[in-house]
Amino acid sequence: MSEPLYLAPRLESRPAALLDSPGFLHPLVTALGSPLNVLLPDQLADNVRRFQDVYARHRLAGRIHYAHKANRSSALVRRLAADDGPTGIDVASLGELQHALSGGFTPDRIVATGPKDPDFLWLAARTGVTVCVDSPAELTALAALVERFRLPRVRVMPRLSQFTAPGTRILTRRSRFGTPVSEAAALLDLVEKHADGIELTGLSYHLDTMGIAEKAVALEGCLTVLDECRRRGLRPLAVDIGGGFGVDYLADGAQWERYTTELTRALLGKRPPLTWQGHGYGLRADSGTVRGALAVYPGHRPVAGARYLDELLAQTAPSLGRPLATLLLENLYDLHVEPGRALLDQCGITLVQVREVRHTADGDRLVRLAANARDVGLEDHGLLIDPVLVPARPEPPGSGGTPVGVYLLGNLCLEADLISRRTVFLPREPRPGDLLAFANTAGYFMDFTADHALHQPVARKVAVHGDGDGGWSWCLDDQYWPHLTAGDAL
Ligand SMILES: *Cc1c(COP(=O)(O)O)cnc(C)c1O
Repeated sequence: MSEPLYLAPRLESRPAALLDSPGFLHPLVTALGSPLNVLLPDQLADNVRRFQDVYARHRLAGRIHYAHKANRSSALVRRLAADDGPTGIDVASLGELQHALSGGFTPDRIVATGPKDPDFLWLAARTGVTVCVDSPAELTALAALVERFRLPRVRVMPRLSQFTAPGTRILTRRSRFGTPVSEAAALLDLVEKHADGIELTGLSYHLDTMGIAEKAVALEGCLTVLDECRRRGLRPLAVDIGGGFGVDYLADGAQWERYTTELTRALLGKRPPLTWQGHGYGLRADSGTVRGALAVYPGHRPVAGARYLDELLAQTAPSLGRPLATLLLENLYDLHVEPGRALLDQCGITLVQVREVRHTADGDRLVRLAANARDVGLEDHGLLIDPVLVPARPEPPGSGGTPVGVYLLGNLCLEADLISRRTVFLPREPRPGDLLAFANTAGYFMDFTADHALHQPVARKVAVHGDGDGGWSWCLDDQYWPHLTAGDAL
């Protein structure tokens, strides 16, 4: 076999210690089935602290809203609700709002985002959460609800979009969400018209991009419209800059460089194939050259999460010419954020049992797993990371084994159900009963797409708590409450 091309996951100490506890993990999967999602709520609290550190460094105040849509877990919501720090939650559906309220979030800590159905809007207005109104029509509908049900004034932070940069250097994309900034004046007219029912407390945006320049344009755009709000006599207090801070998934940038280089060479036929039936991840060979663009998530991303926020705040506003953090400070605006993926960094793993290893006539090794591509959404998102082998039985010391390249197949009776369409290299050939642990799946890769196709089971979720000494305790996700923290109580 050619030399293995690993893409090792970046593991912080807590998930690394968990993966190093086969004696804890194997009985869990035996009891609860494969796949099994394991959550680390304590890690989430640590990640919040990292964002808080950035706030402190820039002397800014504001709320860190966890974007609920990244994971359906109850344990994560309840763990965050327990913190009395400046944490909140961003909900994007009626179900998420109900879940946040029932998990302990009071309405003052909740923001409702995305386009809203009437039921969602009613419960948001009735409970008094802050509404990031998505459009003028939604604002009008909200004001009508307040009037009809004689509700207290509802706080709104309208979502803006399609900001324009000075010059044409910075690409700003269209969005299907929010009110275009060019229509902000008409929106503010509506805010004034409905002043009895709604109170504008700020503005918001969320851009589904990692482009820092694009976000600087958006933040400056909000500051400019906030000036206009003040001129009109409104009293905005905050700007909410949404999520999209990203995660660094891979341990080693050099492995990433090498892998993508070799993938291109393989597609050109200059080395043995690295993908299932010539799958190209967006690239294709065309008489000796590669066309298309590599459509994979940039797994190695050193500036991500709280560090990304730090960099954004240090950016110079493109027109106003001063650092964004300074502009926020001078105007005494609070800064709210809505990280989903970034707050869930290192917060969960997905355990999958190996069922069968098959050697084909043309030399492929096929590893069939007790999970499918909807349970582990990595491939669907173009995120290339290796699973970690958790052996069923202790390995004798020095029995390193021989590295192998395998394809990971799912449990659906469907040709397309591959958990990886690329060759995944493992330190040795897996055996039935071994576990493969997919690291860092809590953000979007756990339950976003899982379903009951073929009546296959959907993964159960457990929350685990480490005692720091190698001991772990666990409970089902919906049995988790924050008062159960110490050792055997969880
Ligand atoms: C999805 C979403 C987020 C979270 O995005 P991440 O990339 O997970 O940080 C935040 N705000 C809104 C409005 C969203 O739709």
